Amino acid sequence: MHYDVPSGERGVSIEMNAKTTAENTGPAIQFQDVTYSLNGSVPRTIVSDIRFSVASGQTLVLLGRSGSGKTTLLKLINSLLIPTAGQVIVRGRATTDWDPIRLRRGIGYVIQDAGLFPHFTVAQNIALVPSLEKWDAARTAARVDELLSLVGLEPAEYRSRRPHELSGGQRQRVGVARALAVDPPILLMDEPFGALDPVTRAELQREFSALARRLGKTIVFVTHDLREALLLASRIILLESGRIIVDATPQEFPRIDHPEVTAFTACLAPLPGASA
Ligand code: ATP
Ligand code: MG
Repeated sequence: MHYDVPSGERGVSIEMNAKTTAENTGPAIQFQDVTYSLNGSVPRTIVSDIRFSVASGQTLVLLGRSGSGKTTLLKLINSLLIPTAGQVIVRGRATTDWDPIRLRRGIGYVIQDAGLFPHFTVAQNIALVPSLEKWDAARTAARVDELLSLVGLEPAEYRSRRPHELSGGQRQRVGVARALAVDPPILLMDEPFGALDPVTRAELQREFSALARRLGKTIVFVTHDLREALLLASRIILLESGRIIVDATPQEFPRIDHPEVTAFTACLAPLPGASA
């Protein structure tokens, strides 16, 4: 199945895009025995023998300790990295067969710490891809306001601010709005709620979980927080040293007998002295 142009380019609405996604019967993303190695003076394998697929509309959570290879897998999906062996199939086509620019326009990417341009206003940050797609000013402005409302920021108050005039949580909301701008069918989210206080983090997680269900996107979500994984995931993949060690539903995950699973579930235990 071929998708020559991302839907946003034709100005297709969210409803039509949801229909297109539903019609894609194959998986949205597939890793076929993917290995990624660095060829330095000492060759180094970063991820190996990765095999999984993500069905359209699913939220896959990649869980793992720091350095386990989570960000590397996201970069293999949007062709920022090319597999050393195996292939990554996105929407029916290997990433190496896609024009990388076209591929990325169909994938919203929320990077760690939001990655907003500091000299751009909130509106300009969100309108980044629409302006590359040459949307007219009225359509772009309407979309920016729609997205700000969607992520819980009052458009009149926030559209003209610059990132340094926002709190960390507000910046992360703008990062999510920017990723959704041209209504891409796939979202990659790299610890989008990291570095937030636990209360705001829990709030954003709940809001995002409802939003994800409503929009029907295919999402690959990276975290090292099991609580977040259990809340958001259709499926959880646990990585250890660049390998998949568990692929399970959130219901199955806590019961799996593996030391790395136990290491993560131990973090969920109540604090000593906390009442039950
Ligand atoms: P974190 O939770 O800290 O973000 P991660 O699971 O996202 O970690 P990756 O960024 O995927 O981890 O990195 C996986 C491993 O690959 C790490 O050991 C990292 O040091 C190594 N690595 C990544 N990029 C490079 C590079 N360009 N050169 C050398 N090593 C690299
Ligand atoms: Mg990372």
